[in-house]
Amino acid sequence: MTGAQSPESLDASIRASNLKVTAPRLAVLRALTDAPHSTAERLFTAVRTQLPGTSLQAVYGVLAAFTAAGLARKIEPAGSPALFERRVGDNHHHIVCTRCSAVHDVDCAVGDAPCLTPSNASGFAVHAAEVTYWGLCPDCQSELAAAPIAPTRTAPAPLSNKGAR
Ligand SMILES: [Zn+2]
Ligand SMILES: [Zn+2]
Repeated sequence: MTGAQSPESLDASIRASNLKVTAPRLAVLRALTDAPHSTAERLFTAVRTQLPGTSLQAVYGVLAAFTAAGLARKIEPAGSPALFERRVGDNHHHIVCTRCSAVHDVDCAVGDAPCLTPSNASGFAVHAAEVTYWGLCPDCQSELAAAPIAPTRTAPAPLSNKGAR
């Protein structure tokens, strides 16, 4: 819990986005501060411990309001459910581990959007560029280096080997 923002500043962030401060919004924003790049489900799990009456639908509603108000950003790496984060407005990119799906921020190549110039924009006025880098995170690299042949315990394995139907 250390390093978490005080309730007052969460409050102020919501107000600064012209949204009404409600208990579910405060709880979701706190969860989002503690765990950037979270799915709605993960935020719901965190929020439910503080607000047992909250529904997943309510969390989706809060996230939609945050995203529309510019208080949160939604990213959707291929093959992943939507992820949410509080770092907004800087056109930053993401690097995703192909093995464990860990997500990290990558700063914009030139500091502001769009940081990549298309070779041909087909006459479009380009507002943003979104890049997803894919690779192996340091943890996965060292796990694989420690056990280059045998699959690790955490690797997904078939439940049974009874053979194909
Ligand atoms: Zn990984
Ligand atoms: Zn990010």
